[in-house]
Amino acid sequence: MKLYSTQNKEHTASLKEAVLKGLPEDKGLYMPVQVPRLKPDFLANLRRYSFPEIAYTVADAIFQGAIPEDNLKKIITEAVNFPAPVVRLDEQKYVLELFHGPSLAFKDFGARFMAQLMSYFNQGEEKELLILVATSGDTGGAVAAGFYQTPGVRVAILYPSGKVSMLQEKQLTTLGHNITAIEVDGAFDDCQDMVKQAFLDTELNRSLRLTSANSINISRLIPQSFYYFEAFKQLPDDGRPLVFCVPSGNFGNLTAGLMAQRMGLPAHHFIAATNANDVVPEYLESGVFAPRPSVRTLSNAMDVGNPSNFARLLDLFDGLPEGSTWNNMKKGISGYAFTDAQTREGLAEMDRKYGYVIDPHGAVGYLALEAYQKSHPGTKGVILETAHPSKFLEDVEGILGRAIEVPERLAVLAQRRKEAVQMPASFSAFKSWLMEWGG
Ligand SMILES: *Cc1c(COP(=O)(O)O)cnc(C)c1O
Repeated sequence: MKLYSTQNKEHTASLKEAVLKGLPEDKGLYMPVQVPRLKPDFLANLRRYSFPEIAYTVADAIFQGAIPEDNLKKIITEAVNFPAPVVRLDEQKYVLELFHGPSLAFKDFGARFMAQLMSYFNQGEEKELLILVATSGDTGGAVAAGFYQTPGVRVAILYPSGKVSMLQEKQLTTLGHNITAIEVDGAFDDCQDMVKQAFLDTELNRSLRLTSANSINISRLIPQSFYYFEAFKQLPDDGRPLVFCVPSGNFGNLTAGLMAQRMGLPAHHFIAATNANDVVPEYLESGVFAPRPSVRTLSNAMDVGNPSNFARLLDLFDGLPEGSTWNNMKKGISGYAFTDAQTREGLAEMDRKYGYVIDPHGAVGYLALEAYQKSHPGTKGVILETAHPSKFLEDVEGILGRAIEVPERLAVLAQRRKEAVQMPASFSAFKSWLMEWGG
């Protein structure tokens, strides 16, 4: 398998390079040179396959032999070990629940798969792979759980003291083993600077094998295409056009859906659902992409002012046989944005109408699907529910005016003892610690 950089298609890399490096040097993003179409026979008989079997077939088609069959099977078994069920709301609307993994968010799929691939590609190396991550909350939990007990890999997660929720902190600080949490006396930006400086430090990189678990690593994107097929398998086979509605921030999830479509998934259309951070819906409307600082909202995992996967979206719609990139993208994706007040209303409405408790991110998706289906009533719509509502307990309970159920695996965290390395917001302190920890 070969990948190119969205900045320059001449800059290519192997899967191993792309996974271990994360980003090409020219600051573009890696994309597969070929996104092969799956066999029509496989798609026609999808119902006969289990979720891991589907994941294996999709991954094998993309990887094109880059990972031997037995190894890839093992990677899939470890990474795709929880379900992605579709729940029916009514004739027109369905929910794809992506929160059944360890950190209760869809990011578990990407994080687990990336952990397995990194571990596989580090086999035979003398030194362990050391992953450095800065988190403002959610990503850290998925990465910590994803890499937990992965052979040959150790993870240090930096988070700003007092600035993540209690449960988010527990997700980072209670695993132990190969996961070390570092509580930084500073802001998220300090954590990010410390990690960035570590990657640039010659002395550190001479003695340690450092890498990042970046959200734009191609190994996080590929597994996200698996569950679009898994959703299709569970839907009624009635010939109505299928539409996926994706609550979006950095647009990784939506990009993965488009890749599934390129591989032959019979998806008719995609909906980009955002909160007030609406640069992509705005681009679809006006043709002008104007990134800007993000604003804080209720659906805060989508508070992104300059979506990193926009370059991949452009790449996917560029160079199609006819029309401009913008026109092509408009044909494939509709964009909608909603305020927090609308999000609260949508969340309450889903509870009233369907007895379904959704989280604020999924609620934005619900509103967008509702808006789209007003003018496209004959469609079958799937909302991607990106996190479990109990991850946003105070907000959801506040909106609904009652207590909601908290899954056991989240509830037990409150009892666990936090363990974190205390660190000032200083690179030199972090560097000395790293030399000790990694050496
Ligand atoms: C990360 C995240 C999103 C946004 O996903 P992208 O792939 O960045 O668009 C949406 N919802 C939740 C709950 C998330 O954690």
